[in-house]
Amino acid sequence: MKEKILISACLIGQNVKYNGKNNQIDISSLEEKYELIPFCPEVEGGLSIPRPPSEIISFEPLKIKNIKGEDVTNSFVKGAKKAVKLVQKYNIKKAILKSNSPSCSNKLVYDGTFSAKLIPQKGITTQFLEKIGVKVYNEKELKKLKFCDKGIK
Ligand code: SF4
Repeated sequence: MKEKILISACLIGQNVKYNGKNNQIDISSLEEKYELIPFCPEVEGGLSIPRPPSEIISFEPLKIKNIKGEDVTNSFVKGAKKAVKLVQKYNIKKAILKSNSPSCSNKLVYDGTFSAKLIPQKGITTQFLEKIGVKVYNEKELKKLKFCDKGIK
């Protein structure tokens, strides 16, 4: 049986992005080794497709707003908690999540000013997943995943 791995739904071509589009990557080598479990925390948290883009305004206390100034913190947290439940249900240890997303990023997020400036912080779902020991990669780090797990070509 293949190991299950969580993946941002937009990376496998699902049109769940804020603008109704996707961020599809080539997943053929991943699919050889893993059973991919697609998940979009923002949609699972109750946000619509399409939706206004959101950024993390503050980390302590956590505050996330969309570009219209609406507070969407609860939706982001709800989606992150659902991701935790899903990985616990399937005993998932690894995730490949989209870079630069306020939900999914494992390294950089936009700085909350909607001016395309990135800062070294993690998205909310990634923070929740890493807290319970899930190793989160982004789509540019598939080679790193290959290094950790010789299964991927
Ligand atoms: Fe993709 Fe994550 Fe944004 Fe959903 S929340 S569209 S899975 S980057």
